[in-house]
Amino acid sequence: MEQHYDVVVIGAGLGGLLSAAQFLGRGRRVAVVERLTHVGGRFTAKPFQGAQVSTGAVHMLPFGSNGVLAGMLRDLRVPHHVHDAEVFGSFHIRGQQLRARSVLALAQVLGRHQYARFLALGAQMFLRNPRPAERDLTFRAWLAQQGVTSATAPDLVLFFARMSHFALSIDLDQVTYPEVCATMKNMFRYGPPGIVDGGCAAVAGALERRIRAAGGTILLNHDVPHILTTNGAATGIIARDRATGTPLTLRAPLVISNIGPIATDALLALGGQECPPHDQRGGQAWPPHAGGGGAATGLKVHVLTKQPFIDHQGIMYCLDTARIAGVVQPSNSDRRLAPPGEHLLITHQLWRPERESIAAARAQALADLTYLLGPPEFGAWRVLTMSQYHDAWPVNRAVQGADAIPQTSVRGLYLVGDAVKPSGYLMVEGVAQSVNALMDAVDRALPDPTTPATHLPPKPPRRRALAWLIAPPAPHPAEPVDLPAAR
Ligand SMILES: Cc1cc2nc3c(=O)[nH]c(=O)nc-3n(C[C@H](O)[C@H](O)[C@H](O)COP(=O)(O)OP(=O)(O)OC[C@H]3O[C@@H](n4cnc5c(N)ncnc54)[C@H](O)[C@@H]3O)c2cc1C
Repeated sequence: MEQHYDVVVIGAGLGGLLSAAQFLGRGRRVAVVERLTHVGGRFTAKPFQGAQVSTGAVHMLPFGSNGVLAGMLRDLRVPHHVHDAEVFGSFHIRGQQLRARSVLALAQVLGRHQYARFLALGAQMFLRNPRPAERDLTFRAWLAQQGVTSATAPDLVLFFARMSHFALSIDLDQVTYPEVCATMKNMFRYGPPGIVDGGCAAVAGALERRIRAAGGTILLNHDVPHILTTNGAATGIIARDRATGTPLTLRAPLVISNIGPIATDALLALGGQECPPHDQRGGQAWPPHAGGGGAATGLKVHVLTKQPFIDHQGIMYCLDTARIAGVVQPSNSDRRLAPPGEHLLITHQLWRPERESIAAARAQALADLTYLLGPPEFGAWRVLTMSQYHDAWPVNRAVQGADAIPQTSVRGLYLVGDAVKPSGYLMVEGVAQSVNALMDAVDRALPDPTTPATHLPPKPPRRRALAWLIAPPAPHPAEPVDLPAAR
């Protein structure tokens, strides 16, 4: 059996779905092949005991309604709605939860002395570019150069560490100083994070409907065991029906892989092709630089509580727990994410499998939950799921700042997704931006006068970041959308 398309996408994660929608918008014939029985990869959810339990993401868009993903969904006319956080965050510290609406309000969290140091660090990070000698420093090493260590400013170091653990799932010695600068500048310019209405399953579902409505093919429950090449150029893929084992050849001059460079290389090697393995990864060896590179790994817990724990729509960072880095309560934004009368909390913490057993990490999570919520015996809260993310299902396939580029050494084969995040764009903002980078790369290879010079959208103006001094920047004006109910 052989079918012919213009573009074949391997994997129906967010990166694969967004790429498919982009090419359909250009009138291309597109097929997406997904190993699982549903789309969305790590950006969807399943109903479990009345809650929307996510396969990965905590239902959150890091840059909210002003971010790159929300903008791309608007451009693609994919219905969605984002509930932006109305605070910078809250902080659990010294046994209590302090709400910080703005950067100024962080003074009460950090105390006068450490807040002054925070402002001094912030001025360096925001007002000048990293110097040559700082470019390869890890963020922890840079802090130490500024005299900021766990001994001299313990809460300030924890403030940065817990933000990094929650948002990037890596420690301060796994990320470079320039990457933290780029990411934090973007966080301030774009605006606060937001929870998507209906949770991530609503976005994945809306994208799936958009693709099918535009005439795209989505083959679910089909594995891709081989990428086909001829004379160093991609010519298609083999898809295998996982239920029947029946193979199907999908021919296309453009193959987009949403499964990361390592798995993509394996599909080339398994295909017995003559192509050299993928060898262009942002000019860096794989796994790259600081602290070992590779994937970002973590442990996430879904919890149901009788009483609300967080009274806002943003992130609560934990500075006084042993391991839990942050908590969100997405049911504050959309009640349908939790069963009636209960509240859904999602916690996230760093977990490095090479250093610690999963049993130990889970025990730490439970101890932290008991510290935050009180003893579970009286039915005030219960754990719904505890999931570890590593190997082929990590938090990020490449640690922030150590990502691949979309081009590969095989003509017509490109990468997209969370191993291809451009610098400064984290999580699904990075996935959406990888799609923009992909479209640019394809256009460079096959120049077409009708396509725009670049798909990378301009950043919001710098002055927008100043709003954070007193309050979060304004959300994107709401547009009427036809929202599907959460699954
Ligand atoms: C615990 C956790 C919390 C997170 N929280 C957030 C958050 O709140 N906000 C946020 O923005 N991001 C968050 N992220 C990150 C976000 O979920 C990911 O960046 C994003 O979902 C990655 O999308 P992707 O398309 O790159 O990859 P994936 O979602 O992994 O998609 C790849 C797809 O390819 C399929 N596939 C693999 N191999 C094959 C094959 N051989 N043949 C066919 N199909 C194949 C897979 O089944 C999968 O569906 C979180 C991640 C985790 C794990």
